[in-house]
Amino acid sequence: MSKWSNPDEWSKLYRGESCVICLQGRPLHTITELEVSWVAMSEEGILRGNCCLFLRRHAVELHDLAPDVAAAFMRDIQRLSRAIQSSTGAVKMNYEVHGNTIPHMHMHFFPRYVGDPFEGAPINPRRVGGPVYALGEFEMLKQRILSALTE
Ligand SMILES: [Zn+2]
Repeated sequence: MSKWSNPDEWSKLYRGESCVICLQGRPLHTITELEVSWVAMSEEGILRGNCCLFLRRHAVELHDLAPDVAAAFMRDIQRLSRAIQSSTGAVKMNYEVHGNTIPHMHMHFFPRYVGDPFEGAPINPRRVGGPVYALGEFEMLKQRILSALTE
């Protein structure tokens, strides 16, 4: 069930009062900060190089962002997208913004590969096979993305 089906709960989430990201102070699996956002990357990602970019201030919808914040967020989006692509050799990047479960502005980055489990279809996180990283591969790729972000 989506969080917005309960008006009281949704109102608190929308205002940030009960936002898990704001209460924690930052997302789980944060690996670095960019201009206005945090980059999160987990070994449990569903595709190699799968990352998530969280805005460092509370907002729910893209249209709620002030123009200067929206422009800075887009700069961070492009920077992370470029870093993931150059680090993974992905043939395509898929982007997703939902916020139904965690209504704090964030964007999912899904690098796509020839023969990946979702080829010819949208990403379906419920249809995941085994781990996407070999032993030691996650840490190596994380370091490569961090390095690419500084270029
Ligand atoms: Zn928040």
